[in-house]
Amino acid sequence: MPINPVVAYSYDPDVGNFHYGAGHPMKPQRIALTHCLVMHYGLHKKMQVYRPYRASVHDMCRFHSEDYIDFLMRVSPQNVQNFTKQLSMFNVGDDCPVFDGIYDFCSMYTGATLEGSVKLNNNDCDIAVNWSGGLHHAKKFEASGFCYVNDIVIGILELLKYHPRVLYIDIDIHHGDGVQEAFYLTDRVMTVSFHKYGNYFFPGTGDMYELGAECGRYYSVNVPLREGMDDQMYMSVFKPVIQQVIEFYQPTVIVLQCGADSLGSDRLGCFNLSIKGHGECVKVVKEFGLPLLVLGGGGYTKRNVARCWTYETGVILNEEISNEIPYNEYLEYFGPDFNLHPDISTKQENQNTKQYIEGLKQMVHDNLKQLACSPSVEMQDVPPDLLSLDNTEEQNPDITNNQYDNDKRIEANNEFYDDDKDNDKDEGIIEV
Ligand SMILES: [Zn+2]
Repeated sequence: MPINPVVAYSYDPDVGNFHYGAGHPMKPQRIALTHCLVMHYGLHKKMQVYRPYRASVHDMCRFHSEDYIDFLMRVSPQNVQNFTKQLSMFNVGDDCPVFDGIYDFCSMYTGATLEGSVKLNNNDCDIAVNWSGGLHHAKKFEASGFCYVNDIVIGILELLKYHPRVLYIDIDIHHGDGVQEAFYLTDRVMTVSFHKYGNYFFPGTGDMYELGAECGRYYSVNVPLREGMDDQMYMSVFKPVIQQVIEFYQPTVIVLQCGADSLGSDRLGCFNLSIKGHGECVKVVKEFGLPLLVLGGGGYTKRNVARCWTYETGVILNEEISNEIPYNEYLEYFGPDFNLHPDISTKQENQNTKQYIEGLKQMVHDNLKQLACSPSVEMQDVPPDLLSLDNTEEQNPDITNNQYDNDKRIEANNEFYDDDKDNDKDEGIIEV
């Protein structure tokens, strides 16, 4: 990858206008706030900014069940009383409320992730960014943890058409359970999640013994952490684990979920990372020079989410940006300091010990040694210059499946799920 990578950044001006409901911690407006800072720092001049494609029902059903997506499309706050059975069946109601435009919201953030994958497959960029994506908890048949459609799984499925090995890294404070579960049985995707674990912290999965199963055994990596993680200790485990994972797995593309609820002072989180500490993870991953899809995720103190993802946009572009937040229409949100890097640490004591972290690192290393250096299936790389994608696509992205059906794909004989079994609730859901 060149020193100054080609970066494709998606932003839909409508995405910030959705509301989960009064008092709900997930606020899509944080994406508008982020974009506003990105623009006022002038970062848009250094990258391709595009309004993303919107995912279709068909795109969403590449992972989710048709019943579930059909429900998301039809339900609204006005008719919700007609869907009592589905609400409980699909886990919609409390954490994941029905709100106006719920389907359009999913379509926007999922379309942006899918288009980022297509651009990477097509070598249209080195790094694709979608801060509205990264909704890692959504399951095949149900909503979970403020997530309805799992854009990450859908994006990875697109990458798998051209990439033999996809590495997924998750730095949200919550376990990346939906993505891990979807790819639990395959060696074509390695999932690595760093998260708070213990004391019933949501979603309750992600202990160090969840390793993957069958062909996927040792291809799920979990780094369960205690509350109060600080920058130095986080990096002391993140860097060596990622280095070893890349060395052993040799991915051809990386998907990085940058959930900002691992920052100090997050409304729902309990880690103590600074914005620079969080951004260091992006820097470390980027420096491997592999094609990279960067996504958002959690993050519930919205002024800090915007600061974090703006700083990380700068990291991706190799642009140093001033600590002084430029004048913008949301300036009042960033007072009283008006800085990009205010002190957001809390008095939360770090419950992780050096010894505990060393033990985790050792265990990850021992597990990685168990895996063959590359997946067990025969792979054939598709030479990028043979791709027959039309360049006009960039202006008017049409990423319906039909267009790609004729494209040469990488086929594995152990694909993680079988279309014929899509309606069987036991398939595709792994008990962990
Ligand atoms: Zn989270």
